[in-house]
Amino acid sequence: LFVEAPLAAGSTLTLDGASANYLGNVLRLAAGAQVKLFDDVSGEWLAEIAEAGKKRMTLTVVEQLRPREPVPDLWLVFAPIKRGAIDWLVEKATELGVARLMPTITHRTIVDRVNLERLRANSIEAAEQCERTALPVLDAPEKLAALLRAWPEDRILFFADESGGVPLPEAAAAGAPRAAILIGPEGGFTDDERAAIRALPQARGVALGPRILRAETAAVAAVAVWMATAGDWS
Ligand code: SAM
Repeated sequence: LFVEAPLAAGSTLTLDGASANYLGNVLRLAAGAQVKLFDDVSGEWLAEIAEAGKKRMTLTVVEQLRPREPVPDLWLVFAPIKRGAIDWLVEKATELGVARLMPTITHRTIVDRVNLERLRANSIEAAEQCERTALPVLDAPEKLAALLRAWPEDRILFFADESGGVPLPEAAAAGAPRAAILIGPEGGFTDDERAAIRALPQARGVALGPRILRAETAAVAAVAVWMATAGDWS
C-alpha cells in the first residue's frame, strides 16, 4: 500500500479514507495483521495494524523489507488521449517500469485537459499491484515545441513514427541507458512536427511493425520492446 508519510522502523502512522477502507473493509484486516507499505522514498516496509477502526487504522512500522528499487531510466512522452485509453496507458506503463510519464500537447491532441490527480491515482494503484516501490514521476502537460527546445543532451528520444523508421528492437539494441519514447495522438503527428522532432540530434524515428497501432497500444509495445532490449528484464 502506498503511504505519503515517510516510513521508519518503530514509527506509527494513522490511515483514514480510502486506505483505511481498503485495509478494513475490503481486505477485512484486524489488529495484529501485517501489511506491506511503501512511501516512494525509503522502499518497502512491513507494518502491523495496531488498531483497526471502520474509518481509521493505526499501524506500527516494523522493519524495512527492501530499499526503493532503481527503475529503468525510460521516460514515456505521450500525447494525451481520451479518458479510459490514457488511464490504461498510465497503468501499463507503470507496471512495465517506466520512470517518468510526460503528457505532451501536439497539434492533433484532441484532449483539452489532463486530470493529473486521476492519472496519479491510477499510477499508484498500478504500483501497488505490481509491487513497485518507486512511483513514476508524472509531469504536467507540456507543449511539444517547448519539450523539444529543452530536451536533455544525453537522452535518446525514440520517436514512434507511424510513417516509418528503424524497427525499434534494432534502434534500442544499440544501447540507450537514458532514453525516452514519444507517442503521438489518435490523429498522429503533422509533417511539421515530424520535421521538428527529426531535427533533434537525439531523436531516432522508429517503427513498431507494419500496422497502425492505437496510441496506447503503441506506447505499451514500445515500452515493452525497450525494456526487453535496452532495459532490464532480469
Ligand atoms: N492517424 C495516424 C495514421 O493513421 O497514420 C496514426 C496515429 S496512431 C493511431 C497514434 C500514434 O501511435 C502515432 O502517432 C505513433 O506515435 C504510434 N504508432 C502507431 N502505429 C505505429 C507504428 N506502426 N510504428 C510507429 N509508431 C506507431
